[in-house]
Amino acid sequence: MDYSKLNDIIKSSKNILIISHINPDGDTLGSMCGLANAIKENLKKKCDTLIVSSLPKIYEFLPLVKDAKHIDTIDKSREYDLVINVDVAALDRICDGQILFNKAKFTVNIDHHKTNNGYADLNIINPDASSTGEIICDILKSFGWKISYETAVCLYTAVLTDTGSFRFNNTTPKTLETASELLKTGIQPAEIYKYCYESNPKSLVLLQAYCLEKAVFSDDDKIVYTTVYKKDIEKFCAGEDCTEGLTEKLRAITTTEVAFVVKQSGHNITKVSMRSKGLDVAAVCAVFGGGGHTLAAGCVVKASVEETVRKILDEVHKKMY
Ligand code: AMP
Ligand code: MN
Ligand code: MN
Repeated sequence: MDYSKLNDIIKSSKNILIISHINPDGDTLGSMCGLANAIKENLKKKCDTLIVSSLPKIYEFLPLVKDAKHIDTIDKSREYDLVINVDVAALDRICDGQILFNKAKFTVNIDHHKTNNGYADLNIINPDASSTGEIICDILKSFGWKISYETAVCLYTAVLTDTGSFRFNNTTPKTLETASELLKTGIQPAEIYKYCYESNPKSLVLLQAYCLEKAVFSDDDKIVYTTVYKKDIEKFCAGEDCTEGLTEKLRAITTTEVAFVVKQSGHNITKVSMRSKGLDVAAVCAVFGGGGHTLAAGCVVKASVEETVRKILDEVHKKMY
């Protein structure tokens, strides 16, 4: 892909803001910090970064993440020359970040979700890429920029987490080539693995155990789901990001074809996380205004937890049979 337009716009912009998506994961945070660090080191230009909901504790190790601005405190009247969204499948996934996005002189959308509708002035969308981090790595190489140790930590985290440690079917030869190049900077894979997968608080593990125990199986165990209520989160004193990895645990059951987690997020606001082994769950989530990838997708439904479970089951049945 030709990234020269992006190169020109980054070079000519004085004030740059990079935005990550709500409920940030390793890909959006690693991409945001990796790109910001690369711009800083290669162009000697500081750019702002923005987080629109709370930062999961496990990602506090990412270089530069502590410098990120938060949506509650950032000056929303500011007009940036350039706003770049990373891993943001749809514009509403940056919440009030849209105020800054809409005011920017130029906007860029770098993503790998197939449901991304190309909402920016310049759209770099590659659904064949494992992660947005993989695309960013490609971009930096095409610019002829140096990828430092710190940038590599960020981008490796992005690729690692979005491929489920190189296990999911989005892992391609190109993904492993990207990982190989990043490793050559001297980063320690075992250390990054530990931060991402072996730094869970006890409260998260116990809450997830409780949610697994109450999982409901249907359709000869082909469909499995569980629910997470606010009272469950409170009972275990877990954080908002306590369901990270839970849907994958349900998919890991031999008989599972479709797994989903329905989490109470507010009054009649429910967040759904879906995984499958074949069925297009992005299409299921798109019915409710969400999206994602074929085998991993999500949506937010304006209904109670129970009603959302019924709606999702209905939609899965329609697409499954
Ligand atoms: P999650 O289950 O939250 O890990 O999300 C699975 C995948 O679907 C990720 O790639 C998300 O970026 C994407 N996704 C989750 N929620 C939404 C949404 N409301 N709209 C579009 N994509 C989403
Ligand atoms: Mn993401
Ligand atoms: Mn991603």
